[in-house]
Amino acid sequence: MNLASILAFIITAHFAVSPSSAAFAPPDNYLINCGSVETTTVDNRDFKGDSSSPGSAFLSAAGSSSIAVQNPNSYPGLSDLYRTARVFTSVSRYEFGVTKNGTHMVRLHFFAFNSQKHDLGLAQFNVSVNGYPILSGFSVDRTKNGKIKEFFVNVQDVKVVVVFTPLGRLGIAFVNAIEVISAPDELIADGAQLVRTSGPENYVGLRSKILETLHRINVGGAKITPFNDTLWRDWIPDEEFLVVKNAAKRVSRSTPPNYEQGGATRETAPDQVYITAQVMNMADVISSALFNISWVFPLSPDNSRYFVRMHFCDFVSTMPHQLYFNVYINNYSAIADLDLSAVTFNSLATPYYKDFVVDSNSLNSIRVSVGPSSLSIPGKVNAILNGLEIMRIMNNDGLGSQGGSKKKRTWILVGAILGGFFFICFVVLAFLLMGKCMKKEKPKQKPAESSAWSPLTVRGSSYTKVSEGTTTASLAHNLGLKISFAEIQYATNSFDKKLIIGSGGFGMVFKGVLQDGTEVAVKRGVPGSRQGLPEFQTEITVLSKIRHRHLVSLIGYCEEQSEMILVYEFMEKGALKSHLYGTGMPPLSWKQRLEICIGSARGLHYLHTGSAQGIIHRDVKSTNILLDENYVAKVADFGLSRAGPCLDETHVSTGVKGSFGYLDPEYFKRQQLTDKSDVYSFGVVLFEVLCARPAIDPLLSREQVNLAEWAMLWQKRGMLEQIVDPFLTGKIKTDSLRKFGDTATKCLADYGVDRPTMGDVLWNLEYALQLQETGMSREPHEDSSTNATEIPVPVLIPRIPSTTVRIDEDNTDQSSSDMSTSKVFSQLITSEGR
Ligand code: ADP
Repeated sequence: MNLASILAFIITAHFAVSPSSAAFAPPDNYLINCGSVETTTVDNRDFKGDSSSPGSAFLSAAGSSSIAVQNPNSYPGLSDLYRTARVFTSVSRYEFGVTKNGTHMVRLHFFAFNSQKHDLGLAQFNVSVNGYPILSGFSVDRTKNGKIKEFFVNVQDVKVVVVFTPLGRLGIAFVNAIEVISAPDELIADGAQLVRTSGPENYVGLRSKILETLHRINVGGAKITPFNDTLWRDWIPDEEFLVVKNAAKRVSRSTPPNYEQGGATRETAPDQVYITAQVMNMADVISSALFNISWVFPLSPDNSRYFVRMHFCDFVSTMPHQLYFNVYINNYSAIADLDLSAVTFNSLATPYYKDFVVDSNSLNSIRVSVGPSSLSIPGKVNAILNGLEIMRIMNNDGLGSQGGSKKKRTWILVGAILGGFFFICFVVLAFLLMGKCMKKEKPKQKPAESSAWSPLTVRGSSYTKVSEGTTTASLAHNLGLKISFAEIQYATNSFDKKLIIGSGGFGMVFKGVLQDGTEVAVKRGVPGSRQGLPEFQTEITVLSKIRHRHLVSLIGYCEEQSEMILVYEFMEKGALKSHLYGTGMPPLSWKQRLEICIGSARGLHYLHTGSAQGIIHRDVKSTNILLDENYVAKVADFGLSRAGPCLDETHVSTGVKGSFGYLDPEYFKRQQLTDKSDVYSFGVVLFEVLCARPAIDPLLSREQVNLAEWAMLWQKRGMLEQIVDPFLTGKIKTDSLRKFGDTATKCLADYGVDRPTMGDVLWNLEYALQLQETGMSREPHEDSSTNATEIPVPVLIPRIPSTTVRIDEDNTDQSSSDMSTSKVFSQLITSEGR
């Protein structure tokens, strides 16, 4: 080995292992281990205990207490930070002096353990920073891992004040550790490129916003822990988010990148992010087809904007100007013909990053793609991505100095007074108008006005034919399902924000009360938008045909004034998911959970095989299983599987609908829809019910992110009980758990043919309930091999009279012969129907 290579080796080893050379020294650096008496060193960082001096100086919390994990051995690998927590029973605060104004990273660590005094899994609370709410109605799942919430806050004040406000039945809040650290000045720039249909625009004002980190990804590389990161961040691998794994190939380099020319520093992202990447997997390119590598990142539904930072470093090219590619976000062009060597002054292996701001979309996800451009050179690598960060932009205008918050309060007051005034005027007006309408019996309506969005034309869809020159009204004529807009306004207090009970792919959901006193849920499509029109019609067509105890009933719909509104029976206890985790609601017993699974299985079985026959739900998930006041489960959301923005031809066009974490892999690969896709998704729901955790939890370690994979792993090991909701520990009879686990596992078989029918699933779940109730086993021959013909007949409520509209034959014929059948209809046809 010559001297040069020895030197290269030393440099490489140094950079790869220790990022701390010329490490960033934050002017403010507060690390607190809450509930602890001592200072705890984690990853070379000292977290001061807040139960004694000096850590206690930051805390003012009358009546708070510190609690500790009683048996740390039951949480192998538990970070020392998570062994204690501080519990607050009244509004409490930590205050940290600020030596230098500017962006600060605020990290809050939560680990919901159960001590003799408190079950932290049931705590529910708000958290604010300098008066701005950063967590509202927050609760933490009782998982075996900690959860870190990270925020970037631009502090223009003498201190950072973190306030915890307990809520809910228990009235407790908690936290396990707090970090308040100055970020480098240049880390968050004020401007970014706004990505939209209308072409790129500039977004300014980022610096004054609070950003909440949602995803931080080391693309093509391994997990990076705070120990190895220049700003003590976590980065996770990208594989889980890759849409088509084969489209991408991991590449890496062993020497550090050179930071000189690209604008990025080692604080922007550490070496390990820039020296690993995913590139196009050329071997899988079908010569004639252009395609992209895409990643999809789930978001919780809200109307936020998101900050997206993409990290690039071209260490694959051997000379400048070899690599040209396009970058897309949510299928909009973000950068066309990107030549990394051009933006890094002809240098290679140079880190570069680009910031974007995107609007939220109806899919509650962000899709990032890189792919070849028309300038790509054949035979060369034609797209690369090294890292990615996604943050929610919080709407915190007015935050900051005391003056700022005073100003904010004044505006809120003025807003409230004006709002109240307009609201009263509006209500008076609405009553006057309603009185008028009622006197005139039915409002005079120009024929064309009955549907502002007709005639209905859905691209390439057999629907066009059904609906040409018609409206939804004529599809579902004489059903008495039409409800006037005025009635819906009355029912929802003119779509009063206070009555919002959820939001989904179609739009907001409001609670309402009709004039006859019936409580309803009102789903309103985005007013004036045609998006969701086919789903709207499907929902009416499908639901007006069927009634079943375990399917949510459609009470009516409204299509006046360009509105698309669906009115359903009100399900008092809301979505199943909210009873499993994340809301602090009291946990369901095992029997309740089994009954809910059985009810939903009945509903789905009826959809597949009952008199409505041949309906595939296509979006089975725990938010689409709703519970009535008696916890009776009903399946909801038949036609509203969400349509994404149109993909252009250069994209990997999957046409696949459904929700992240629940998608049948076979449907995904082959795009052939069968009722077994619902069975797969239902299998995921079964594990969700058993383990009380989400189908996808990106904050968990890599092997745990995807529930289906994680549960199958433990099932294979024969130790499923290890991941069961801790609340159920010791409460499920062994046989019942075994039957349930086997059933869920079978639902998750790779191929549809190997999965049971919904009928089988139903039978097995009933058996699991019986095993729980009586502890009785049936004879082996009576076990799961039973086929669907033996299942109990679903309980049916009488169907709507025969005037019920069916999908007319003409239309059905076309849909089965037309290869470009509307996505909507493909949802209605089982494999047998094809
Ligand atoms: P998604 O598009 O995500 O499936 P939906 O639009 O169907 O969501 O519903 C969003 C949320 O609104 C649900 O998770 C649930 O909390 C609430 N919701 C929907 N329908 C009803 C109903 N009939 N009764 C009570 N709550 C409902």
